[in-house]
Amino acid sequence: MSTSVKDRLQSVRASIEHAAVANGREAENITLVAVSKTIPATTIEPALAAGHRVFGENRVQEAKAKWPALKASYPDTELHLIGPLQTNKVRDALGLVDAIHSLDRESLAAMLAKEMARVGRSPKLFVEVNTGNETSKAGIAPVEADRFIETCRERHGLVISGLMCIPPLGEPASPHFTLLAKIAERNGLPLLSMGMSADYEEAIAHGATHIRVGTAIFGARA
Ligand SMILES: *Cc1c(COP(=O)(O)O)cnc(C)c1O
Repeated sequence: MSTSVKDRLQSVRASIEHAAVANGREAENITLVAVSKTIPATTIEPALAAGHRVFGENRVQEAKAKWPALKASYPDTELHLIGPLQTNKVRDALGLVDAIHSLDRESLAAMLAKEMARVGRSPKLFVEVNTGNETSKAGIAPVEADRFIETCRERHGLVISGLMCIPPLGEPASPHFTLLAKIAERNGLPLLSMGMSADYEEAIAHGATHIRVGTAIFGARA
């Protein structure tokens, strides 16, 4: 017998509460971004019906196909883009999302600044940091992060709200969470997007304000 999305959501919420208490934090300061990439609308619907309102998608095209109809039924839904963003998709993204977790290069900062001014929308922006210095991964190298954040602020007039990381697979995540928190602190950034199904409790212990959880809520992706 498989558990329902509603049950799994409830169990993730209980774990968040538990991890928050264990670390002297308030669960209400931890936003659960339910990652619905590849998950069909019919499976997302039970999470909405159960009252969940913050979701993450990694592709603009897919979000555009699924979310306008779901948002029509649940208008207070908040959508977060957690995957790579091409500059030619920025306009579409701004029409749809409330936060972008993948600001990782200056050309994207420039395009965001230009389009945000044009459409008058300002999603929350997270700079993605490649904490493991992996060649296969997007994100700003840790040694470049301070300078990139300053460039976003000074040259492009962007408000940066926080940082995001995806630790390397098969490595302990804690050192990456610690590093991300340190970079955020010295740059005066309040938000930390870190922790996925396998390690969100650990991320909460290191100060995560946004955890991105897919599998633990919707089950394994096809
Ligand atoms: C898919 C994805 C997640 C969710 O991963 P799970 O292990 O399914 O919880 C989180 N963050 C990003 C950037 C992702 O692409």
